[in-house]
Amino acid sequence: MPEAPKESGEYSVAENNRKKLEFIEDVTKNADEVQKRVLAEILSRNAGVEYLKRHGLNGHTDRETFKKIMPVITYEDILPDINRIANGDKSPILCSEPISEFLTSSGTSAGERKVMPTIEEELERRSLLYSLLMPVMSQFVPGLDQGKAMYFLFIKCETKTPGGLLARPVLTSYYKSSHFKDRPFDPYTNYTSPNETILCPDSYQSMYSQMLCGLCQNKDVLRVGAVFASGFIRAIRFLEKHWTLLSHDIRTGTINSLITDPSVREAVMRILKPDPKLADFIESECSKESWQGIITRLWPNTKYIDVIVTGTMSQYIPTLDYYSDGLPLVCTMYASSECYFGVNLNPLCKPSEVSYTLIPTMCYYEFLPVHRNNGLTNSISMPKSLNEKEQQELVDLVDVKLGQEYELVVTTYAGLYRYRVGDVLRVAGFKNNAPQFNFVCRKNVVLSIDTDKTDEVELQNAVRNAVSHLMPFGARLTEYTSYADTTTIPGHYVLYWELSQMGSTPIPPSVFEDCCLTIEESLDNVYRQNRVFEAIGPLEIKIVETGTFDKLMDYAISLGASINQYKTPRCVKFAPIVELLNSRVVSKYFSPKCPKWTTPGLKQWSNIN
Ligand code: AMP
Repeated sequence: MPEAPKESGEYSVAENNRKKLEFIEDVTKNADEVQKRVLAEILSRNAGVEYLKRHGLNGHTDRETFKKIMPVITYEDILPDINRIANGDKSPILCSEPISEFLTSSGTSAGERKVMPTIEEELERRSLLYSLLMPVMSQFVPGLDQGKAMYFLFIKCETKTPGGLLARPVLTSYYKSSHFKDRPFDPYTNYTSPNETILCPDSYQSMYSQMLCGLCQNKDVLRVGAVFASGFIRAIRFLEKHWTLLSHDIRTGTINSLITDPSVREAVMRILKPDPKLADFIESECSKESWQGIITRLWPNTKYIDVIVTGTMSQYIPTLDYYSDGLPLVCTMYASSECYFGVNLNPLCKPSEVSYTLIPTMCYYEFLPVHRNNGLTNSISMPKSLNEKEQQELVDLVDVKLGQEYELVVTTYAGLYRYRVGDVLRVAGFKNNAPQFNFVCRKNVVLSIDTDKTDEVELQNAVRNAVSHLMPFGARLTEYTSYADTTTIPGHYVLYWELSQMGSTPIPPSVFEDCCLTIEESLDNVYRQNRVFEAIGPLEIKIVETGTFDKLMDYAISLGASINQYKTPRCVKFAPIVELLNSRVVSKYFSPKCPKWTTPGLKQWSNIN
């Protein structure tokens, strides 16, 4: 992820690094006092807001009263308040500061993106977190101020609420802000991509121009990255498809006519010079049969890849290792639309060991202990509200226990109070008094390729809608499971179906294709957007032989699952199980076209008007 410029251009790089590391020392040593202050600050500023008054907090700012009075909530609990703000109610409902815009999350509610109200000053908090990343990194990799970073960064579409507020993803908001656009020169925010290429709304032109600029400055590049691993792999895939056009542009010093955005053309032409030698080199590397190590071949001074490979993104590690010949994969930060949370203080560690130190100034954190049932069974769980006893189980930042898993609950400056983010974290250690967390998972998510997060209930509903196509043929779905297949680029959802067929009419392939499309149409807005933007490939149904799911159960039982409790897992990840399923496939079908997708928000807001 990109980092924010330092606040003042006056310090030397070393001096600035020292100050940032000192800040981390200070806030982690005094984690509890900082947290107490943060909560008091949030509650005193917002003492008059409707939401706190509604619950009777009565201006109290201490932890005990806050915890006793305020409920632990999910998005759905504040949806009516959010809708009022979206519709133009400017009274202080959640926050005393004016709501500056909505951030559209990749988390969804009833199939639509969640929208989080935010305030102007949150941009400063996000900048602060970014500004910690390179001082941390420079302790492990010196000299990063001597070259450039090739980061593929993109903006996404934005929309307006009926009340006129912008609604857009948090990174789009950040890149369009003066914090990013007008940053003073800083050797750590020296990117190969000019701002104009990042801010170009057309994703093809943006990717093309960023790749072109990255290639023509290949020797300067010391680190490469994107926000998530899937995005970086998409960029490599783009290069595989378009390297002949790109090298032609480098040879001639001209830019392809498909790039029509005048500001992008102008920005690229400031960098691009005819360079036939570089074009020859790119062509000879890209035309080799194997693309193993292509990153280190084309960008020979690269020291690491900066991408998130924790959580579901870990499925991309083998592909990144292949393309980079095992360069370090660095996960620098943990953040969300609700709030930015933490940084990785040991960035060169293995991806499986990454832990994030939550920065105590960002928000007020609480932790709900997670009690897992044995991992072998899998059942559909709906998010439920907490009973009184569970509400009391929440602990503060400095009171979490090593090895224990927790769900993250935050109270933010922008007006979320005891809000369940939906992430499960495990305590891996401590930096001074501040805990460091492994990211375990997003609660209930079973399938994810990019920013999509499909849970069991959504999958179940989608499958139920699809199987209606089989009824006229006397066929019934007896069992199913799913798999996020990332061996294809882009990755795609695979559903394994076992059928029982009473009738004798064979089912034509087009019917299964309709099933694929119906599932896609039934999945949420984020899934469908990713499909339309080719971040996810067409969904596949694989029909397996009768008896396959019995074999699957036998296998699980041989591994120790209880016969009484066994339920078919609705998603599989374990390689031997995927192999077992694949070995019994009798036919496969793909979704024939993209599902329909509308701009985030339009549907939910048209419903409330
Ligand atoms: P969004 O609200 O769309 O910005 O998505 C935020 C979510 O992305 C978080 O709540 C996490 O589930 C996930 N996420 C963000 N950073 C990381 C990370 N470093 N590792 C794993 N998952 C992450």
